[in-house]
Amino acid sequence: MNLSTGAGSPENGKNGTGHPDRRQAAADHVSPSTSGKVRLRFLGSGDNFGSGGRFQACIHVDTGATRFLMDCGASSLIPMKRAGISTAAIDLILISHLHGDHFGGIPFFILDAQLVSRREAPLVIAGPPGLTQRVREAMEVFYPGSSGVERKFAVRYIEMIEGETTQTGGLTVRPVRVIHGSGDPPYALRIECAGKIIAYSGDTEWTHALLTVADGADLFICESYFFEKQMKNHMNYRTLMAHRAELGCKRIILTHMGNDILNHSDRIELETAYDGMEVIL
Ligand SMILES: [Zn+2]
Ligand SMILES: [Zn+2]
Repeated sequence: MNLSTGAGSPENGKNGTGHPDRRQAAADHVSPSTSGKVRLRFLGSGDNFGSGGRFQACIHVDTGATRFLMDCGASSLIPMKRAGISTAAIDLILISHLHGDHFGGIPFFILDAQLVSRREAPLVIAGPPGLTQRVREAMEVFYPGSSGVERKFAVRYIEMIEGETTQTGGLTVRPVRVIHGSGDPPYALRIECAGKIIAYSGDTEWTHALLTVADGADLFICESYFFEKQMKNHMNYRTLMAHRAELGCKRIILTHMGNDILNHSDRIELETAYDGMEVIL
């Protein structure tokens, strides 16, 4: 299967900063009157420890035809409900890797869909190999007996193979292996939807695989746990900026920020996500 990279020529210019006034400008830029094909909302822009009072990773994307989540951290139902997004209104959940702050919300999502929103439409959950078992185990740990009950909706799991495209719900998704210990293969995701390309790093330290993921993307959402501290498994802002000119994406937004980088927000020259931030592509 083909994966189009036809997003025009890459632009490497800076696109805003983490300064609050520019963040506000970015928010104003996506007023409801703006006509765009793909609308993203950062429901959760935080790390695994709630740094800065942020929710865990969860990005809602609405293409008009399909509504999906990129990651579903354990806290995700809370910002979903604050935003008025029902678990019955999500067609697809894409998971980058099997850490609790990225997939731990799925048991709650499924139980809410069963008992609260009373979903009937099938739900697709796509992620790395191991996804089906890890979700089943998580459900059994949190709510024993919950993984095998009869529901009015089917859940279909897709365990994506690295480097191969998966087509589902009108999306073309290509998972690319990154560097992050999570028990099963961790992925960055390259998602083509409604003629746009969204690249998402998941969690990873720097790897040249990100150049492939982000090439020609309309938006590259990249984790940046630290400002300049070099740690295994996670990105820091300085390293990302050292590779900025090589990244052929139109726009970068940082997410999954820990205390270290949040404490350096006045020195960040890239856009930074915040809970509730909306972006239209
Ligand atoms: Zn992780
Ligand atoms: Zn994480």
